[in-house]
Amino acid sequence: MAGNITFTMIKPGAVADGNIGAILAKIAEGGFRIKALRMTRLSKEQAETFYAIHSERPFFPSLVASMSSGPIVAAILEKENAVQAYRDYIGATNPANAHEGSIRKLFGKSIEANAVHGSDSDENAQIESDFFFSGFDRF
Ligand code: ATP
Ligand code: MG
Repeated sequence: MAGNITFTMIKPGAVADGNIGAILAKIAEGGFRIKALRMTRLSKEQAETFYAIHSERPFFPSLVASMSSGPIVAAILEKENAVQAYRDYIGATNPANAHEGSIRKLFGKSIEANAVHGSDSDENAQIESDFFFSGFDRF
């Protein structure tokens, strides 16, 4: 059964561009409810851990550098079938291929600086949520 929680991050490029508020507004517009929210910054080691699945990919060093280059906003979102619904909502990994009106189309600048992360499975949504939030900070 599909879960109702996903995890997202507003990536450093989108934060630096001043788009936190606009992206949170789009998230709300999509019917996703915010269950936890935090601004923080990933160390290089934390970025490596977060994207460990891509460690053998050629873009990994650049991805880690960009993800640890400045503050991010982490959030847990709730909606029915949240993981798939959010991935559909944010659009394709490459903003150039993302659908009109999607978060990545509106705020992404490149395949690497694509504005937001979205969990790819219920299991990873739990792992990623636990990486950023204690039980105290979830509502
Ligand atoms: P995310 O995991 O951030 O939600 P995704 O699931 O759409 O994105 P993944 O294949 O998991 O895409 O890639 C993780 C991240 O690595 C992408 O969001 C992007 O920032 C970066 N990335 C993916 N492919 C490339 C590439 N070919 N060149 C540079 N960066 C890339
Ligand atoms: Mg992914």
